[in-house]
Amino acid sequence: MTKSEELFKRAVRCIPGGVNSPVRAFGAVGETPRFIVSAKGDRILDADGNSYLDFIGSWGPMILGHNHPKVLESVVRAAGSGLSFGAATEMEVIMAELICDIVPSIEMVRMVNSGTEAVMSAVRTARGYTGRNKIVKFMGCYHGHSDAMLVKAGSGVMTQGIPDSAGVPAGCTEDTLSAVYNDLDSVETLFEGNPDQIAAVIVEPVGANMGVVPPAKGFLEGLRDLCTRYGALLIFDEVITGFRLALDGAQGYFGVRPDLTTFGKIIGGGMPVGAYGGKREVMSMVAPVGPVYQAGTLSGNPVAMAAGITQLSILKENPDIYRKLNENGDWFYSEIAGILKEGNRECQVNHIGSLGCVFFTKEPVVNYASAKTSDVKEYRNYFKFMLEHGIYLAPAQFEAMFLSAAHTRADLEEALDAVRAYVREK
Ligand SMILES: *Cc1c(COP(=O)(O)O)cnc(C)c1O
Repeated sequence: MTKSEELFKRAVRCIPGGVNSPVRAFGAVGETPRFIVSAKGDRILDADGNSYLDFIGSWGPMILGHNHPKVLESVVRAAGSGLSFGAATEMEVIMAELICDIVPSIEMVRMVNSGTEAVMSAVRTARGYTGRNKIVKFMGCYHGHSDAMLVKAGSGVMTQGIPDSAGVPAGCTEDTLSAVYNDLDSVETLFEGNPDQIAAVIVEPVGANMGVVPPAKGFLEGLRDLCTRYGALLIFDEVITGFRLALDGAQGYFGVRPDLTTFGKIIGGGMPVGAYGGKREVMSMVAPVGPVYQAGTLSGNPVAMAAGITQLSILKENPDIYRKLNENGDWFYSEIAGILKEGNRECQVNHIGSLGCVFFTKEPVVNYASAKTSDVKEYRNYFKFMLEHGIYLAPAQFEAMFLSAAHTRADLEEALDAVRAYVREK
């Protein structure tokens, strides 16, 4: 038995499914999760001493690569001054100023501890601001695990085939309306059918939790127009795309301004951080200035702020990082597509910048329904083969691959060699 297998045996006895988040389970690919002991740059090391070229990057946060020396140093320094005060600190001001400076649509921002919290709070704020209850979300988009958002959600919910979660009362989701990604008519129909009732439309500006599904031309602009026309707020869930597609996120990349934005993942530099922000007028609804209550004992934690500030500052001062990430992404994902197609595999390689995903289907993947046409058995074979060849991919079809600034061309070539071997041998 390997060390990972031993640890997993212990884990399943005392942790549900042996993991603290379902996406870490290797159930969908029929494998035992690898227990990770350390990481550096684009490599992770498991408990058995196996090294992998990592394309997950903690699901996005590690955009500079694992254990970046400057981020690490700032965390150690902050920890030396105290782990938590439950009181205001200068770090929180620096963080808020940094975010407002980087993202033009954000005039005020509130820090929380996860993407889930950020979305939950943004939705509450939108409802408080508009005095309306209904929320439009898209099938296959994941917005964390708060009750109201667990309707036709992506990510682990999609992989496990859970249509809705148990334990969510119908009352919690009766105001959540589902639209079809990349289909503006489906959104307009909901607005027409629910006059003056829709508080907000929430969307992943690039779908990244049903695999990767980029927005069709005009989709985000169309959402902006519909929200403005019907008096609803547009919420961009940039928990994945924020500080990734571009420094100012998908909204900068596509030039569409939402009313509220949620962040997570990259914003914490690997520490548990989330944030939501937007127009001053809307954010002034939040307690203690306004009537929308939202709080957090550890929110704006000084160690977490240190990691986030350092990572965001490095990204801000080195715009070249984005040029390289996006160039590498364009090259790498089209190489994968080329190799698989030459090997006569029916597949779609969707990508945008450093985010990408291989779907084993002949249908173009543009929404939840077409993503679902993927052959998950072939993905399982592909995943296993790649893992055996030292390449660590998402252990489920409906997740993204993440490139980091630490992925060199030589490392990416190594991954492409594994794809070539897969096509040859399987
Ligand atoms: C990961 C994710 C979330 C949830 O963030 P957590 O930190 O896991 O709670 C929300 N929205 C999107 C788009 C995500 O990818």
